[in-house]
Amino acid sequence: MFRTLLIANRGEIACRIIRTARRMGISTVAVYSDADAGAAHVAMADKAVRIGPAPVRESYLVADAILAAAKETGAEAVHPGYGFLSENAEFAEACAAAGIVFVGPPPSAIRAMGLKDRAKALMAKAGVAVVPGYLGDDQRPEHLAAEATKIGYPVLIKAVAGGGGKGMRKVEAADDFAAALESAKREAKSAFGDDRVLIEKYVSRPRHVEVQVFADNHGEAVYLFERDCSLQRRHQKVLEEAPAPGMAPEMRAAMGEAAVKAAKAVGYSGAGTVEFIADASQGLKADRFWFMEMNTRLQVEHPVTEAVTGFDLVEWQLRVAAGEHLPRTQDRIALDGHAIEARLYAEDPASGFLPSIGILERLRLPDGVRVDSGVREGDTVTPFYDPMIAKVIAHDATREGAAAKLASALEHAQIAGPRTNNAFLIRCLRSADFIAGEIDTGFIDRHIAELVPKSEPDAAVLATAARCVAGNRPSTDDPWDARDSFRLGGPARQVVEFVLGGRRIAAPLSVAGRVAAPLNGPGGLTALRMKNGDVAVMRGGETFVLKPFDPFELADAAGVATDRIAAPMPGKIIQVMVKAGDAVKKGQPLAVLEAMKMEHTLSAPADAVVEAVAVAPGDQVPDGTVVVRFAKGKAKGEE
Ligand code: ADP
Ligand code: ADP
Ligand code: MG
Repeated sequence: MFRTLLIANRGEIACRIIRTARRMGISTVAVYSDADAGAAHVAMADKAVRIGPAPVRESYLVADAILAAAKETGAEAVHPGYGFLSENAEFAEACAAAGIVFVGPPPSAIRAMGLKDRAKALMAKAGVAVVPGYLGDDQRPEHLAAEATKIGYPVLIKAVAGGGGKGMRKVEAADDFAAALESAKREAKSAFGDDRVLIEKYVSRPRHVEVQVFADNHGEAVYLFERDCSLQRRHQKVLEEAPAPGMAPEMRAAMGEAAVKAAKAVGYSGAGTVEFIADASQGLKADRFWFMEMNTRLQVEHPVTEAVTGFDLVEWQLRVAAGEHLPRTQDRIALDGHAIEARLYAEDPASGFLPSIGILERLRLPDGVRVDSGVREGDTVTPFYDPMIAKVIAHDATREGAAAKLASALEHAQIAGPRTNNAFLIRCLRSADFIAGEIDTGFIDRHIAELVPKSEPDAAVLATAARCVAGNRPSTDDPWDARDSFRLGGPARQVVEFVLGGRRIAAPLSVAGRVAAPLNGPGGLTALRMKNGDVAVMRGGETFVLKPFDPFELADAAGVATDRIAAPMPGKIIQVMVKAGDAVKKGQPLAVLEAMKMEHTLSAPADAVVEAVAVAPGDQVPDGTVVVRFAKGKAKGEE
């Protein structure tokens, strides 16, 4: 076994790999960018080497810097994690040339599966069913449009170099094709430097079912069953589970064997995932699933497989990379119970799931379940990297049990600072249709009103915030006498004023004559005065942010909601859809901002008239930049 392992990644996956390496007695080396000098993975590793400034192109993607760090620290192997260089064949080759073991498949296998069109052609040849579609080289828009018509709408445009749901657009009708193609190509170009696309038939009632495979360097390959990752938003996974609900043993075997065949066809070694799309309009059927792509690396959601098989997949990766045989043969791999993973992100469901950045002023993650995280309280979520805060995984004898356990764990999380999707995750897990196993990739869109309700602070939340402000305490965590009256150099205060949706509201310190209580414990409320003066009130996994009224700031605070729209995070303006003088309706798209490699649409907060557009396509803007200003007095239609 290796004595020293370098982890060419950051965040939760770097921490997760270090944990296993440590248990196996392997010494660990972290690499980090300037933005990560104080990060959790750096603190955890035995050694750490700086590899460059914050942008990934100048640090985590610089193969030479990583190899130099490996040489300098005597690392014999490099684990690439997921993302970054994990599916980069040149990097795998460079490792080999430097005499360092790349913990992953041979470069030839990475290449064979690297582009979706080539991988599909190869799989079709190997006898694996693939999604029908157009894989050709002719990329002229009119030709692609003609192919889409031939395939039949709805179709899916996919970047051949794609990953993480980027560069992908579903198109319902021929009229929408040209615009969708243009935006898919633009996103693909910026994320992958390759704007070629393929067109696929959009499978109806699609379920994403993927198979975990493992192969060694001695010609053996096994499958570790399936994961269902159908709960997605914009083609990105939100909840993942194992096994797939409604999976019959024959279909499991059929998929497992197809996946092993795919792995063997490319001379695979190590951990890999073969992703299939299944038409579940009549339940999961053994003749209704098709190969989509193979991810030649450890997958984000591998913990659910670890939970139901009892294996440590990172340990398997290291053993295989060191030349050992697979730890188990197929007949000695069994399923135990059900596991569900939730991806907890710093993003704001209320504003279209835009990533949210800032200091995690409070971060209390639940006990009693597996939590894989790469950040700690006080750390900052930056615009440089993936805004994932943690993966939370529950395992139980049944699916219902696992869902209930996970929901209740998330209800005990307390997070303040960036907005998060925690309450949204809880609502997904508590949704009757989810519990009934009525899932497909359209689930979130269909249930969006239930999953992202207009959530206003109620009297108890307001009272808790009021007491936090009146008591002038940094947090209501410490038990304190709830019957206190607050004398700030004057008579007791009975109300505190907040600004909510542009209006001033008076919040009493107590609800219905009684003092608001309890502050902690199940169903309890906790408040935190944040650095900017706002109050975060946390209850049942949900966080409400309240801005105390300040006479000098009111005009400004009110203005945020009514007279302008600003960039919520740093990024690049890609498109502007309105001009001065236009009348816009609430929710109408105004501009497209590219941030964190994704395109985000900024929409009108209310019916209004555009007074001025303050940006132009191509502008690089810091967060808070005014994008569109609305004419005064025109915004009174909104709340
Ligand atoms: P990525 O590389 O971004 O992961 P995939 O090809 O795996 O791209 O597709 C991502 C997601 O898009 C899938 O998980 C699935 O939900 C959806 N999807 C992909 N292909 C199809 C299809 N042909 N029909 C319906 N949905 C699809
Ligand atoms: P998986 O396919 O493993 O289930 P996703 O497709 O959702 O996971 O995300 C993996 C891809 O998303 C990576 O290949 C990478 O492109 C991007 N990604 C996600 N998280 C990170 C991260 N922390 N660092 C870098 N890239 C990431
Ligand atoms: Mg995929």
